[in-house]
Amino acid sequence: MKSKVILISIDGMRPDGFLACGHPFIHDMMAHSMYTLSASSMQPSVTLPCHMSMFTSVPPERHGTVTNTYTPPVRPVKGLCEQIHDAGGRCAMFYGWEPMRDIARPGSMIRTEYLWCYARESADTELTARALACLREDAPDFLFLYLVDTDDKGGHDCGWMSEAYLSRIRTAIECVKNVLELAGEDYTVIVTADHGGHDRTHGTTMPEDMTIPMFFIGKPFEPAKQFDGGSLLDLAPTIAAVMGVLPVYDWEGNNLAR
Ligand SMILES: [Zn+2]
Repeated sequence: MKSKVILISIDGMRPDGFLACGHPFIHDMMAHSMYTLSASSMQPSVTLPCHMSMFTSVPPERHGTVTNTYTPPVRPVKGLCEQIHDAGGRCAMFYGWEPMRDIARPGSMIRTEYLWCYARESADTELTARALACLREDAPDFLFLYLVDTDDKGGHDCGWMSEAYLSRIRTAIECVKNVLELAGEDYTVIVTADHGGHDRTHGTTMPEDMTIPMFFIGKPFEPAKQFDGGSLLDLAPTIAAVMGVLPVYDWEGNNLAR
């Protein structure tokens, strides 16, 4: 592999939620990354369809999963983890919500860990600790860390932009900080959200649901550079390019790396 990548998805994190969360590390994140606060989620702005688009670089009407129930596709699009695996790379994944298991096909991972988030005060903190252990023990080429508390215990339980929601974002940003400190120069780290939210829900075409932030931290990206736009579809082509892996023919997004 040309380079290693960590992808962190913070479920339901709106750009204005990121800016308002109050964690001092957000300024470091913007200073060290190429970033956008106006990227697009997918329609429907729902967790599993959005993550399937993140990993297959096609919209939900193409990959076929349009709800939080995985639908085996009639015409499969090869995903990012399968492409990395076939190129000789080693992938790992850590997630706190069970349906996320379907974003990669069995056999493409060297290590997956799932935590039942509902029984824990902070699944995000615990999952991040496990991901850090994996980085130390296995040094995978690609690691996916999915943080769920922002959406479940923040937005859905208490409302988007509520203090409880912002507090969950603060915890997620602390997790990002801990990952970046361990990752050092060895990894490019990409932080995204799958969708936003409003009131105590999401899934609509409202800007509050559809607008997400993305941060790209590492040598292939210019630091302290804000850009407009970007899409979940751009993540798989960008990660493949950073790793020196060829993109899949069907992928529709753009490589954002220089
Ligand atoms: Zn979500």
